[in-house]
Formats: sequence, structure tokens, C-alpha cells
Amino acid sequence: MTYVRAIFFCFVLLICVGLSGVSYARYDFSVHTSKIISQEERGHHQLFVPKLTVTFLKVGQGDATLIVLPNGRTILVDGGPHEAGEAIIHKLIEKRMKQLDLVVSTHPDMDHIGGLISVIQQIPVTMVLDSGKHYYSLTYHMYVKSVRKRNIPFIYAREGQFLPLDPNVSIQVLNNGKGKNGNNESSIVLKIRYKKADFLLMGDADTKTEKNIMNTYDVHADVLKVGHHGSYTSSGKDFLQKVNPQFVVISYEKGNPYGHPHRSVMKRLHRYGTQIYTTASRDIEFQTDGESIKIQNGMPLPLLK
Ligand SMILES: [Zn+2]
Repeated sequence: MTYVRAIFFCFVLLICVGLSGVSYARYDFSVHTSKIISQEERGHHQLFVPKLTVTFLKVGQGDATLIVLPNGRTILVDGGPHEAGEAIIHKLIEKRMKQLDLVVSTHPDMDHIGGLISVIQQIPVTMVLDSGKHYYSLTYHMYVKSVRKRNIPFIYAREGQFLPLDPNVSIQVLNNGKGKNGNNESSIVLKIRYKKADFLLMGDADTKTEKNIMNTYDVHADVLKVGHHGSYTSSGKDFLQKVNPQFVVISYEKGNPYGHPHRSVMKRLHRYGTQIYTTASRDIEFQTDGESIKIQNGMPLPLLK
């Protein structure tokens, strides 16, 4: 009987050691996993938090710009045409962005707000900043309806106002739709400054608007997203001289029926010796720490002033 008991005791002991071994291994694995995650998170932190990232998205014939501020807050300026909406949502998921802190709709044209409709329907948005220009189109109606349906605060941009999303970044509205007749001239124009780096996003603003804002504000920018997809109605000579950009971005689709960008604008831009990037075949990403700027993960380039 004692012999049987001894065998039974040994058997129980073996099982216990075996089980504790398993549980130890599990515990060790979980600790190891959490270490990897925290290292990844730290890497993510180091890579994105102190930097401003501005990505001009390839959305076909239209405009969409995704901005990640140094403090992690996110802004989407326009959403391209209707068909771009799903692609933008996929990009946000890819970049692990679960929400947008601000959506800016520069003006009510379909190639800017069409894609915003599905983004607003599917991604949590904290606030929508609108030009204040109303428009009688099905797209505009659907856009307003999508904002109302999700109960998102809908704010009209005021000229000159600053958008306080990150204490280290100045974001100013240089133009809005108040009292404007046409959609393009109603475009919200944004000037974004992070230390030495300036970005100027023109929406579809025309030469008349360019004149107005250059007489009122400091329009110099290192990166200029030219107005109206490089149309001859925008990017006047005097304006380009004042902005004096090191890089320009033109958002358009190859073979579009409007002939964007216009040959005269391209000629003018080449004459100023700026580096020209387009969204015709890919997204264009700028990342800056406020001292230097990286384009498409290239080498950091000094900001020329
Ligand atoms: Zn447009």
C-alpha cells in the first residue's frame, strides 16, 4: 500500500512540476511580448510624436491631405472625389489611425468633399471645419447630412483664426468662404508652421485670393500645395515670388479632362527652380522636425530660409 502511495505521490509531483513549467513558460512569453510591444510603441513615439507629417494623398482628380501633428493629433484636409473615400479609410487603418481630430473641407466641390462622406460615416471625427460656402449639389447635401447624422460639431472657419490643436504648431486660416461668390475663391487656405517649417495649403484658391492673402499675411512657405490642381487660374507670378517655396505639390490625375496642371503654371514653377512633386502616381509624404525636412523617407534636407 505504501509502495502504491509513493508511486501516486511521485505521479502527482510530476504533474505539478509539469504544470508549473507550462505556466512559467506562458508567463515568460507574456512578459516577452509586452516588452516587444512597449519597444514598438516607444519606436512609434520617437518616430512620429516630435515630428510633423504632411501627406498629400493620391486620390485621382481631387485633393486630400493627411496631417499628423507632433503631439499625435490628426487632420484630414479634403477627401478627394467620392471614389477616394474608401481608399482613404484603408490608409487610415493601415496607419493605425482610429480617429480624426479635425476634418477640413476647403470648399464644396465634389473633388474635395466627395470622399469625405464615407470617411465621416466610418471614422470617428471630433470636429469638421467648413468654408461656410453653401452649394446646391447632391454631394454637398450628402456631406452635410453625414456630419449631422453623426452629431459632429460643424464649425465655419473664420479668416485669421488659429486652430489650437498642438501647442508647438501654428495653424492659421488665411481665407474662408464668407462673402465669396465662387466655390474656388471660398477655399479654406491653411498656413501651418512648425518651428522653421512652413506649409501652405491653397485648396482651389484663385489668383484673386492669392493677391488678398499675400497683402495681409506672411505667405512664405517651404512647401506649397498649389491652388486648383495647377490650373492657370492659380499660382500667379507675384504670389509664387512671395511664397518662395522650396517644394511644390500638385494634386491631379493623369489624363484628367481639365488639362491640369496647365503648361504655363508648370513653366512658371520650373523657372523658380522649386522641386515639383505630384500625386499623379503616388502619395507624397513630407516629415519635418522643424529644423530639416524629409521627403518620402529620403535623407533630411535643410530648410532654406
Ligand atoms: Zn479641386
